[in-house]
Amino acid sequence: MNTKTPGINGLKIDEPLLWERGRKGKIGFSLPRQEVPHSEAAKKLTGPVPDLPGLSEPEVVRHYTRLSQWNYGLDTGLYPLGSCTMKYNPKTHEVQAQRPGFVRSHPLLDPALAQGPLQLMYELERLLGEITGMDAATLQPAAGAHGEYTGLHMMYAFYQEKGQDRRKIIIPDTAHGTNPATATMCGFKTVPIPSNDRGILSPETVEAAMDDEVAGIMVTNPNTLGLFESNIQKIAAIVHRKGGLVYCDGANFNALMGIADMARSGIDLLHLNLHKTFSAPHGGGGPGSGPVCVRQLLEPFLPRPRIVKNGDRFTLCEDLPLSIGRVHSFFGNFSVMVKAYCYILSMGRNLERASEMAVLNANYLRCRLEPSLHLPFQGPCMHECVFSDAKQRDQGVSTLDMAKALIDEGFHPPTIYFPLVVEGAMMVEPTETECKEELDQFVEAVQRIAEMAQTAPDKLHSAPQRTKVTRLDEIGAARKPHLTG
Ligand SMILES: *Cc1c(COP(=O)(O)O)cnc(C)c1O
Repeated sequence: MNTKTPGINGLKIDEPLLWERGRKGKIGFSLPRQEVPHSEAAKKLTGPVPDLPGLSEPEVVRHYTRLSQWNYGLDTGLYPLGSCTMKYNPKTHEVQAQRPGFVRSHPLLDPALAQGPLQLMYELERLLGEITGMDAATLQPAAGAHGEYTGLHMMYAFYQEKGQDRRKIIIPDTAHGTNPATATMCGFKTVPIPSNDRGILSPETVEAAMDDEVAGIMVTNPNTLGLFESNIQKIAAIVHRKGGLVYCDGANFNALMGIADMARSGIDLLHLNLHKTFSAPHGGGGPGSGPVCVRQLLEPFLPRPRIVKNGDRFTLCEDLPLSIGRVHSFFGNFSVMVKAYCYILSMGRNLERASEMAVLNANYLRCRLEPSLHLPFQGPCMHECVFSDAKQRDQGVSTLDMAKALIDEGFHPPTIYFPLVVEGAMMVEPTETECKEELDQFVEAVQRIAEMAQTAPDKLHSAPQRTKVTRLDEIGAARKPHLTG
């Protein structure tokens, strides 16, 4: 097969660069001949002709369409990338986010002329407060890790205000990797603590690590093993008794929406990922949003400006002496907020049902895949489930081999080798938007691969075979990047 010829199998085409494909003198448009002479001003504007490739319009359209087919996205198939919540987002939310009133509202508009967007943000803060059980929120952070950064700055400001110098943050080994990174970046010293043999935190472990230099604990809940931290109330009480704060990494709130009340769990502040749980696509470099919701004691430290309501008018308040200041230009990523707002209003009480479906789907996969894959932690999981390659190791088949083989089966692989607490981890998150038939197809693919690991393990070492490039030298790709195509 001549791979330079366009065909129907997008993944197989070897697409050249536009510069390689183009021919000098070819142009992709035809404008009517100019009937009036160039003005003096226009003559001055014409500089040297830029070196653009010469191509026809269809060639350009096909080039980019073919490139888009090299990709695998949620609209192509199941994307069980654990911890990432790659779920289907209703297309209507994109339409709402593109309404001219939102798109054309410049962030420097006088608030009197931007009442609609301000009202939306004001109401979204309150909706997120209601969903989490917190008292106030900021929508400024642009991502989950940025929310952590904002939250930890607020914790720092809180202790400065109290005249306490607390520089340590407790971080369990089941926390998301961004937690220790953020704490370090904010100048805190991280105190790592282990989870117990059930994969969750024991109150005694927290008790032993907690002293009056500790600003607080960052708990990912559900944790990165997909397990609910069922001792959270006891843990929060221990931390509070010694004057610390409890930060919850709520990036995976699609397991808890409408079910868990964070205030009753003892949480003081948490971030959400609108670009996971609340209907904005995650990944691909698009904009994200990581709002931080807080209890009243932290409200004075929220970033400014804050949107306030006077009668039925919305204004911006800058006069907040304890605020940590801005963490984003203007208001944050507004289009993501519109999608979240639409999602929450259109779901209503069904948010709870979405969480139930997310948990049910993950447990369905847990039960159906357990005969094929080793399950390091028994018992029900939340929205995701962590397996390992322990059953295949004797055959010399690794998690990487099985992940690559899933590509040949037409699936995006799950998250692999994370969390670090499980050797050869494979973290599967089906999300609430997958139906049983899709999950069954995935199960059958994993079963075939597990079977092959026993009967023909060598075949798995060379997977994937059905893609444009087969097994990559991942270390070489990182060490000697070849960036020109
Ligand atoms: C995704 C995720 C993050 C980081 O979110 P970003 O938007 O990628 O910065 C943090 N914590 C948890 C638990 C996550 O799943």
